[in-house]
Amino acid sequence: APGNSAPAPAAPGMLGRFLGRSDAPRRALDDAMLEALEDVLIQADMGVDTAMRVTANLAEGHMGRKLSVAEIKALLADEIARIMEPVARPLPLYPARPQVVLVVGVNGAGKTTTIGKLASQLRGAGKSVMIAAGDTFRAAAVEQLQVWGERAGVPVLTAPEGSDPASLAFDALSRAKAEGIDLLMIDTAGRLQNRADLMEELAKILRVLRKLDPDAPHNTLLVLDATTGQNALNQVDIFRKLANVSGLIMTKLDGTARGGVLVALADRFGLPIHAIGVGEQIDDLQAFDPAEFAAALVG
Ligand code: GDP
Repeated sequence: APGNSAPAPAAPGMLGRFLGRSDAPRRALDDAMLEALEDVLIQADMGVDTAMRVTANLAEGHMGRKLSVAEIKALLADEIARIMEPVARPLPLYPARPQVVLVVGVNGAGKTTTIGKLASQLRGAGKSVMIAAGDTFRAAAVEQLQVWGERAGVPVLTAPEGSDPASLAFDALSRAKAEGIDLLMIDTAGRLQNRADLMEELAKILRVLRKLDPDAPHNTLLVLDATTGQNALNQVDIFRKLANVSGLIMTKLDGTARGGVLVALADRFGLPIHAIGVGEQIDDLQAFDPAEFAAALVG
């Protein structure tokens, strides 16, 4: 503040707000403190089970110790990073030509944007990429995907509005095979309102893909919106029933201090987190870094 010679403290994150300034006096790690920490983790969307596991691990070996705020943060960040490390794995690339990547998720989660960003990254890595606009019932989604295809310099195959997505998937895979494309990404509908329809639609896409390649799809990516909090856990449950989800991409981590749901996801499902979305631009897709994520989360 003007006229104040003391440097302004850095904006505190989730734990910062609870623990106070980093130069606050040391305090003993006791039951009350653990319970309060647990509440903070739950508020950050980590879920009760995971928050309890994290604080229990912290208690082990540190109970009764007098810790500074910085030490508590570092210990918690270590615990969180330890949960996240096994799931931080980039999208595996296979020699299959094409590698077929099915992309699922609810509308608005960021599927279209993520496909565009991923296409651009893969192209930058020297891969040839093709996109199939499989959400044939949403004209706006198809148009958006075409825009992203142009940005990424990648062809986008479309079909008339309302036509059968499985038929488009079949045509796309045939063409990608004929053209020797490295990677085919197939967008899908995200209408959870009618789950039976969606299940049938996805099952049919899988059936026709396997006519052309018994190993397809090689990956089924579930795109999740970090700002939906604990709801993301339900979405994983649902989509695992609809499709054989092989990995996750979490979007909108730039817009939330509640990314704790990623810890809950890792703890509960152990599915790989291939990348995170940190903005609306084409370069805003990053590899998931557990240590960096944990440090930012504890603030
Ligand atoms: P879809 O319906 O699943 O295809 O979702 P879209 O890709 O159309 O994304 C929905 C909205 O979220 C759009 O306004 C995107 O710009 C935005 N969005 C997607 N990913 C991110 C991200 O990582 N960060 C931010 N801030 N916005 C994102």
